[in-house]
Amino acid sequence: MKKKSLPESSRLLKLASQVIPGGVNSPVRAFKAVGGTPPFIEAAEGCRIKDVDGNTYIDYVGSWGPMILGHAHPDVVKALLKAVPRGTSYGAPTGAEVQLAEIICDMVPSIEKVRLVSSGTEAAMSALRLARGYTGRAKLIKFEGCYHGHGDSFLVEAGSGVATLGIPGTPGVPPELAELTISLPYGDLDLVRKAFQDNPGSIAAVICEPAAGNMGLILPPPEFLEGLIRLAEEYGALAIFDEVMTGFRVGPGGVQGMFGLSPHLTCLGKIVGGGLPIGAFGGRADIMGRIAPEGDVYQAGTLSGNPLAVTAGLATLRILQSGEIYPGLERKSSRLCQGLTDAAQTAGVPVQLQRCGSMFTVYFSEKPVRNFSDAKQCDLERFGGYFNGMLERGIYLAPSQFEACFVSAAHEEIDITRTLEAAEEVFSSLKQP
Ligand code: PLP
Repeated sequence: MKKKSLPESSRLLKLASQVIPGGVNSPVRAFKAVGGTPPFIEAAEGCRIKDVDGNTYIDYVGSWGPMILGHAHPDVVKALLKAVPRGTSYGAPTGAEVQLAEIICDMVPSIEKVRLVSSGTEAAMSALRLARGYTGRAKLIKFEGCYHGHGDSFLVEAGSGVATLGIPGTPGVPPELAELTISLPYGDLDLVRKAFQDNPGSIAAVICEPAAGNMGLILPPPEFLEGLIRLAEEYGALAIFDEVMTGFRVGPGGVQGMFGLSPHLTCLGKIVGGGLPIGAFGGRADIMGRIAPEGDVYQAGTLSGNPLAVTAGLATLRILQSGEIYPGLERKSSRLCQGLTDAAQTAGVPVQLQRCGSMFTVYFSEKPVRNFSDAKQCDLERFGGYFNGMLERGIYLAPSQFEACFVSAAHEEIDITRTLEAAEEVFSSLKQP
């Protein structure tokens, strides 16, 4: 298989590196964990993205999750084209914001009131400030390998790019602040109880990805999520489900909808903006009532509720609300993951396919991956070989073992077939251990 030719991407990367740190605006895009030049993207439609060198790929990144309908979905494009001539930002309330808030509250019943922000990071930071303001406490429990955006309090043993770059924390986060974050292994409820017992009256919140997607894809063990809500209540804290990635992805109501759970607060992002920058946090009306101007916990944003982002989000959620696309996503994702498992098995390459709806990760590991410590033991070199082999064959996957891939409604059976054909070749070409 001939390597993809990327002369224009290489030229742009060189130029970019002179004016943008590392040449990218978000670290994982630099392909540091897998080597090689990241293709610079020119356009995308359906499940395909095209780079500036004329190569086309079947895309399983989907802008890291938002593109559940596929790129440039006709309804979203139509709505945006109608909205743009009406102006791109007013810094004043709009009717469309109300509609988006209503649809969010309808699809995620634990959310009685919601505030729109501009990113998932902002949603998580704001939810934490609210939890601190509401409880009058400072400490936070989070889980190793979970990622809640790049807010200071969350960058302790974080997942996603932080895990990809192998950094346990980051300079710039004052130790005094990092000390307020208690980071525990994902799924260990006993340690959560112990943390509450060891820190009486000082833990404001426990935040988790209800299905973790930022150390690869890890499902919560049975009773874990219920247990977090129960323990938070027992110890006077709030349970925050960060569904920035899983919200509207694993089903219309996110992971909490799948399990029928009601966390006190929920963070949303990605899909809720239909591919434009947006985030949201919401929850019980009395807790959300503490947010300014209704309450005293300050939170604000110049572009919050941006009319274009709200338009794209509304067009997307209106399609997702009926739930009709999820069985198709499930069928295609299940076939893809079963096919990948079979291909790896035939080639004698030990992998674990872990999946939640249309999110999945191929772990290069002999045993199931249950937490960050397991994920870190995966064969990262083999992952790099797999990633690059697939890229050369026109399959664009998340460029890190510590990320999830996404299937969209625009992937067709033929795309899954092509992906599996590529995978068969790639697995059989990987070196035996
Ligand atoms: N929370 C989770 C679970 C995420 O996956 C992400 C991003 O990947 C974030 C928060 C941060 O969102 P954003 O990148 O929009 O700031």
